[in-house]
Amino acid sequence: MAGTTLIRNADWIVAYNPDRDGHVYMRHADVAFTNDTIVHVGKDYGGEAEHVIDGKDVMVLPGTLDLHLHGYMEMHGKGFFEDLATKHMWMTQLLEYTWILQDDRESSFAATQASACDLLKSGCTTMAELYCSGLPFDGWVDMLAGTGIRTYACPMVQSAHWYTSNGKDHLYEWYEEKGFENLERSLEIIDDAIAHPSGRLHGMVGPAQADTCTEEMFRRCKEAADSRGILLQTHAAQSVMEHREMVRRHGKTPIEWLDDIGVLGPNTLLGHAIDIDQHPWVNHHEHKDLERLARSGTTVVHCPRAFAQWGDMMRSLGGYRAAGINMALGTDCYPHDLVEEMRIAGLMSKVASGHVDLLPTEAVFEIATLGAARALGRDDLGRLATGAKADIAVVDLRHSSMRPVRDPLKCLIYSGTAAAVRDVFVNGEQVVKDRTVLTIDQDNALDRLQEGQERALARIPELDWAKRSADEMSPFCLPSHLQNS
Ligand SMILES: [Zn+2]
Repeated sequence: MAGTTLIRNADWIVAYNPDRDGHVYMRHADVAFTNDTIVHVGKDYGGEAEHVIDGKDVMVLPGTLDLHLHGYMEMHGKGFFEDLATKHMWMTQLLEYTWILQDDRESSFAATQASACDLLKSGCTTMAELYCSGLPFDGWVDMLAGTGIRTYACPMVQSAHWYTSNGKDHLYEWYEEKGFENLERSLEIIDDAIAHPSGRLHGMVGPAQADTCTEEMFRRCKEAADSRGILLQTHAAQSVMEHREMVRRHGKTPIEWLDDIGVLGPNTLLGHAIDIDQHPWVNHHEHKDLERLARSGTTVVHCPRAFAQWGDMMRSLGGYRAAGINMALGTDCYPHDLVEEMRIAGLMSKVASGHVDLLPTEAVFEIATLGAARALGRDDLGRLATGAKADIAVVDLRHSSMRPVRDPLKCLIYSGTAAAVRDVFVNGEQVVKDRTVLTIDQDNALDRLQEGQERALARIPELDWAKRSADEMSPFCLPSHLQNS
């Protein structure tokens, strides 16, 4: 919004305090922003304001950041993927099922828009969208800009993809030269995003997975990222199968190999890093991956829900953090709800560590805000502070999921729902008002995605090794009464 917006006398503000490089509660104070920048957080804003929001019964939060999702594709699997995994491959879904759902341009864009709506409505103001089904469709960058959410566009590239020919073998089809060609094109897309007039788009170089890119591909990606001063994101340690393959190829864990070839570092984000050497399913002979990640300054983007669906979990988020690793959060598959992802991250860390002190509520919120901003090298995101970007969520403390309100951040993360998020601003623009997304017609996006899902499910027999139909592969969770009577 042009001019200055003032949230006046908010009951609660989660404000940034530079002395502790963390958040603090502020009571009965003001937040003001002019155009895209916060100009005041504290008592008694004395300036003019064109727009005034009453702060009674609200908590004002910095927008959270989702640094790992595949909004374009995974939503096609809603109602299909939930109970699917290859059991004799340590429950992973990746080998047998990941590539059987293929998007088309219409459904890819609809799914991305629907994902962005869900994120915005959960108070998330930045996403890293990772496209890893070949190159994105024409118009991708403009479509991302139109969602209204701050976006790191990451068109991922590969030298190979994995597949299985019989549900048991673990094979790779290699096409290194084609991968290099795609890298060149992906860099043009990234440069377009960075130059986009919205000012809300950024780029990330994306060698897709540790096991699908050659050393030369990683080297070229790292050079391209470093020469542009931008980040690199890849997937690593996301299945036991990947670990075994990397040990077979190199005698090293995926993290160890990436470290040895110079990929790890403060400008690198690793999606997942769950099945590392110390994980009991992996049962490696030595436990050094955590130290490698911490020493190198690599950020791990944790997506707990996606892995919980396969029965796998990080052991543990609090433990990684205590080892000195910078952590961020992602929603990866669906739902794209950062409130829920924070809750799952917090609960599963407690379960995995068997301890309540290792990851207190403040740490969960810190990971979703300041940890992510640190990963991006941005001291103007993930915080409410003068000079920071006006990426702000307003939470309704009268919402039933927030009441009774004692400690509102604990209420939001451990009891609240995204429905308690009332208004959201990105770069000073209001993108959610009274729980309605203003930038996208959410119903229309979901209608288009519904049709796109039907097309994607119909294509499954062509892509599955056993030519199974969607219903054979993933039966409905209840028998049909009419069919059986
Ligand atoms: Zn991913």
